[in-house]
Amino acid sequence: MAVTIVIPTPLRQFAGGKSEIDVEATTAGEALEKLTTEHADLKKHLYNDQNSLRSFVNVYVGDEDIRHTGGENTSVKDGETMMIVPSIAGGNLAGEARAEKELPTLSTEEYARYSRHLILPEVGLEGQRKLKAARVLMIGTGGLGSPLGLYLAAAGIGTIGLVDFDVVDESNLQRQIIHGTKDVGRPKIASAKDRLNDINPNVRIEAFETRLTGENALELFKDYDVIVDGTDNFQTRYLVNDASVLTGKPNVYGSIFRFEGQASVFDATRGACYRCLYPEPPPPGLVPSCAEGGVLGVLPGIVGTIQANEVIKVILGAEGILLNRLLLFDAWKMRFRELKLRKNPDCPICGDNPTVKELIDYEEFCGLRQPAEENILEEITAIELSELIADNREAQIIDVREPHEYEIARIPNAKLIPLGEVVKRADEIDSSRAAIVHCKGGVRSAKAIADLKASGFQGRLVNLKGGIAAWSDEVDSTVPKY
Ligand code: ZN
Repeated sequence: MAVTIVIPTPLRQFAGGKSEIDVEATTAGEALEKLTTEHADLKKHLYNDQNSLRSFVNVYVGDEDIRHTGGENTSVKDGETMMIVPSIAGGNLAGEARAEKELPTLSTEEYARYSRHLILPEVGLEGQRKLKAARVLMIGTGGLGSPLGLYLAAAGIGTIGLVDFDVVDESNLQRQIIHGTKDVGRPKIASAKDRLNDINPNVRIEAFETRLTGENALELFKDYDVIVDGTDNFQTRYLVNDASVLTGKPNVYGSIFRFEGQASVFDATRGACYRCLYPEPPPPGLVPSCAEGGVLGVLPGIVGTIQANEVIKVILGAEGILLNRLLLFDAWKMRFRELKLRKNPDCPICGDNPTVKELIDYEEFCGLRQPAEENILEEITAIELSELIADNREAQIIDVREPHEYEIARIPNAKLIPLGEVVKRADEIDSSRAAIVHCKGGVRSAKAIADLKASGFQGRLVNLKGGIAAWSDEVDSTVPKY
């Protein structure tokens, strides 16, 4: 009974770089057991200390979440696909609500502009008037927000709210097509507003040049019909979800990472929310941001356009929206998959007995303000490192000694960044995968790790216990000890 387990991008580094692994198993638990035996590093990412699956990791057999089908006892059939889907960093029905209100009329110019909508029976004059009456709040005017804004404005959404505090940077232009080269250095809100007004001057743009926070989110959300999540970090994503649930608004979700995207429509008034899918965020550093892990420029274009499509359908009251469905897209393989979502009765915010009744501190919730005692040093022994290198020749090793020490003795493929330079050269360390940090005896490398963490470095840093001296003693005696 062979099943194929699909490994998501962030976890491939712990699975020998593979995207799919075949194992012989009759249950989901047995398959995961074999997988984590073969790739021991995966285990701590999938399971907690109590040996249960972590809450930010979902496992599907076919298109069903195993939480709804018997957990790890879920049986798997020969040839079936299992997917590990971790959460990744990178929207009362407006149609119904508006039905009570009088819809605005269209001008002669608008009849001409929207003629291709008007002749579609599914939109028609009434649908176009609903779009004109609608108020959509977009969180972020970056990669996802760009196609979203362009298509929502072109489609004739009456009012679009924009929330962003960022400034256009050259590195944005590879994917954030709402901004142009001339806009580099301008606030994204100003640049986006100009572009949207140019596409469609009938659209009213309400610009909020601010960071979305627990203090302003509820106040902002209450005046809109649909919320669109175009954020790139977990703390804002949970904030958008919780504020949407608390104000009863649909939240049109999209996220991207490297080549992979997700999209869904969360509406707790009639289905699952983001916390039903992922009750808790992954620990900081496990899933890198797009700034660290990269993203194919066209990917947010595709995912953001899917979100725009769903926003319009939510407003029109269309059937077939992405409610209780999680769409997964892999741009590299050009493959779409769809998974079923269910409202979780134990969901902390939209379940039967919610524990989250108001907005919380999302920085803390996402582990970005760790208490000092949790800031323990992760270590690896020389023997373990040699096994890791044998397993994965790409292992990232950072040597924080001085150049003259490096001349004397070195661990193969280690990159030299002396301790004094490590913080200012942190961008030379690939934060999307673990870095093994070493020195002569293990003390300077521990200091380097502490300095990097204190400077806000988000990647996983592991100290080589006993440094290169231990390497010489335990692994390779031809490496001189000095
Ligand atoms: Zn929920």
